[in-house]
Amino acid sequence: MFMQRGEGAYLYDVEGRSYIDYVGAWGPMIVGHAHPSVLEKIKSTVDQGICFGTPHPLETEMAEKLCQLVPSLEKVRLVNSGTEAAMSAIRLARGVTARDRIIKFAGCYHGHADALLVQAGSGALTHGVPSSPGIPASTVEHTEIAQYNNAGEVQEIFADRGDQIAAIIVEPIAGNMGCVLPDPGFLEALRDCCDRYGSLLIFDEVMTGFRVGPGGAQQRFGITPDLTVLGKVIGGGLPVGAFGGRAEIMEQLAPLGPVYQAGTLSGNPVTMAAGLATLNLIEQDGFYEALGDGAARLVQGLREQAGAHDVSFEAVEATGMFGIFFTSGDPVRCYADVQACRAEDYQLFFHHMLKQGVYLAPSSYEAGFLSSAHTQQEIDRTVEAAGIAFDAVRRENQ
Ligand SMILES: *Cc1c(COP(=O)(O)O)cnc(C)c1O
Repeated sequence: MFMQRGEGAYLYDVEGRSYIDYVGAWGPMIVGHAHPSVLEKIKSTVDQGICFGTPHPLETEMAEKLCQLVPSLEKVRLVNSGTEAAMSAIRLARGVTARDRIIKFAGCYHGHADALLVQAGSGALTHGVPSSPGIPASTVEHTEIAQYNNAGEVQEIFADRGDQIAAIIVEPIAGNMGCVLPDPGFLEALRDCCDRYGSLLIFDEVMTGFRVGPGGAQQRFGITPDLTVLGKVIGGGLPVGAFGGRAEIMEQLAPLGPVYQAGTLSGNPVTMAAGLATLNLIEQDGFYEALGDGAARLVQGLREQAGAHDVSFEAVEATGMFGIFFTSGDPVRCYADVQACRAEDYQLFFHHMLKQGVYLAPSSYEAGFLSSAHTQQEIDRTVEAAGIAFDAVRRENQ
C-alpha cells in the first residue's frame, strides 16, 4: 500500500481511499498526522537552515524537556534512531561496568543492531527469522535470552554468572509482540537483580515513552532504570532516538568520558522542532486521559464484538497502545504465548478491516497505536467494522 497523505486519524492512499490509521507510522504520530502546530514549527525552523553541526538551542530545549518529563533522566544524548540509541546504551553499559554479557527477552525488539537482533520481535518474528543472516555468532555470544515475565529465569542467570552481566535491556511494556504488560513484580525483580549484582537496568522506552503516560512506563510502574532509550514520539515523525540516565553514567560518554558515541545529524534543529511541538501538545491537561479513554473504548468494543461472534480473542491496552490476540483462551504473557495465537485469523481480520477502511498493522506481532485525533466517531466506526471482520473469521473457522 502506498500512502499519499495523512490528516488527523486518517491516511489516504495513492488512489484516494481513506483509512482510519492505527499504525501511526509505527509509533511516532501520537498527535495524529499533519498536526498544524507540528507542521508550523517545522516550517519556521527550516526557514533558518537545516543543520549546522553545532549545538542548537532546540536540542538543549529538547534535552531539558526529556529530563524534566522522564523520571530517571538526569542527562540525555540525542541520536537519529531507536536502533542507534539502544546500541549506544548497551555500549555505555558495557563500558561502565567493564562486562560483556547482556540479557534481553524473547519477543522484545531493540532495533537492528547486531548484538540485539536475537529473538527480536515484530518484523524479525513475522518473517520467522529470530536472528538474521549477516550476524556472526561471535557477535551475539554475549547476548542471553530470557522469557518475558519470567523473573525466575533471570534470577537463575544472575545466580550463575551475575558478575558478568553488564545490563538487562527490556521493553517495560512489550510492544513488539503485540502488547504484553509486565506481570506485577516482574520489573521489580529485574531492578533487584541489577542492584544486587552491579548490573545496569535499561528500559527501552522507544515505544512506550510518551505513549503510556508523560513519563513513560517507568513512571507508570514507579521503577527507575539506570538508562532509558527513547525514540519515535520525541521526533514527531522525523528520524530520532535518545538515551539517557544518571549523570555519573552519562558522563562516561565521549567527549567527557571514554565510551565513544557521535553522530553527524544528531539533535538536528528540524527533528527537534517536530519533537518539541509534539511534546508541547502531549503536555496539555487531559491528553493521556483522553487517549486512554479512547483505547479502553476500542478494546472493550472489540472484545464485545469478538464475543458476539464467538471468536476466542483477547485485547490489551496501555493508554496510547493496544494489542489484539486471537488466543486459545489463556492470557498472553510472553513470546511463546503470542506464537501460540492464530496468525491466520489475524490475517483474515486484518484484510476485512482494511477493506472497510481501517488500517491495522499487517502483522499480529505489532502493537496498535491511537492518536489524540482518534475521536469516539473513529473508534465506534472501527468497532462496527470489527463486527463484520470477526464474523468473517468465525465463518472461515466453521
Ligand atoms: C521501534 C523500536 C526501536 C527501534 O527504533 P528505530 O527508530 O526504528 O531504529 C527500538 N526499540 C523499540 C522498543 C522500538 O519499538
